[in-house]
Amino acid sequence: MTDMPNDYERTVPFAKVALDQIKALRQSAVPRNYEIWYHYATGYNPSLNAAINDRLSRLGTLSTEDIDRLHAQFFAPARLGERIDSIGGEVVIKIDQIMAVLDAAVGSASRHTESLADASDQLGHAEDDAAVHEILGGLIRTVKAMETSNKELELRLTASKDEIAKLQQNLDEVRSESLTDPLTTLANRKCFDDVLARMVEQAKLRNEPLSMILTDIDHFKRFNDTYGHLTGDQVLRLVALSVKQNVKGQDLAARYGGEEFAVILPDTTLRAAITVADYIRRAVMGKELMKRSTREMLGRVTISCGVATLHSGDTIQSFIERADTCLYAAKHAGRNHVICEVDPEVSPVVEMQIA
Ligand code: GH3
Ligand code: MG
Ligand code: MG
Repeated sequence: MTDMPNDYERTVPFAKVALDQIKALRQSAVPRNYEIWYHYATGYNPSLNAAINDRLSRLGTLSTEDIDRLHAQFFAPARLGERIDSIGGEVVIKIDQIMAVLDAAVGSASRHTESLADASDQLGHAEDDAAVHEILGGLIRTVKAMETSNKELELRLTASKDEIAKLQQNLDEVRSESLTDPLTTLANRKCFDDVLARMVEQAKLRNEPLSMILTDIDHFKRFNDTYGHLTGDQVLRLVALSVKQNVKGQDLAARYGGEEFAVILPDTTLRAAITVADYIRRAVMGKELMKRSTREMLGRVTISCGVATLHSGDTIQSFIERADTCLYAAKHAGRNHVICEVDPEVSPVVEMQIA
């Protein structure tokens, strides 16, 4: 999937544009500036490019403050590790604040308890109405003070509760981003690995079928080489959409690697999984591709699919490997095919592996 020479050819032109921009604007070639211009060169983030172009057309350059602002706006949110650290830091501060509020509340509650005990003691020794009156006055003041501090405690705890709910929501968002592939918005490889491990365990426990589809775009390198990587990325999005639109319920569609996708289908037999794979294959093949910017027709892409179902003796690895063997057989069979583990194209390979 990650093809080193190809990556070299793909990324060096972006690097060159980035350096040329830095030179033209006589900026320092530090990583922070380079990062902005490299992303600008790729064009992957149209909003970033629009913001830079707007600035350039008005002022002809980007100041250090502009770079800082663009970083905060476009890159900082993507740095999940930093965001998690920052949310973690906020949680610690919040807990400290709540502990301080609770300490203060405990302190004032024990002071109030003491003054109530004093009042009760004094009542026992009160010699006349005036003394009783004075003690009652003190009691009323204590009760009022208790009421005030209880209200304050309630307000502070409610505010803390709201802030903690906000932090919880931020954490949920970060968590969901860490499991999503940004280009296609499908589940990423980490999510796939986590879910597959859980599903395999569950299928074995419940004695239910579990199937998997692995798909790979046919001759995608050729497509990229012909139409460019950015157009290739649009096609990846389109294939991802076809995968997503043909799975449902508990099924998980994921970007497995560069131009490979995977679907985990719990409680699904091999036969049913083959049907799903074929729907996806047909959906991809059925789309005539057009480059939006130039309205150039780019033809069609096809995908090959390998389908496997979990066996009782399987490990996660052997299950994936069987699906991969089927995918390889589908490529070998001429591409744009769905091949499953019981197809004759695969059986000889499996037999050979056993022998
Ligand atoms: P095959 O039919 O055998 O799968 O041929 P292929 O050309 O698709 O296979 P190969 O593994 O040789 O090339 C995969 C290509 O997928 C290489 C790379 O250019 C492309 N690719 C991988 N990840 C990305 C990506 O994120 N964006 C784009 N545009 N292309 C990618
Ligand atoms: Mg591939
Ligand atoms: Mg391919």
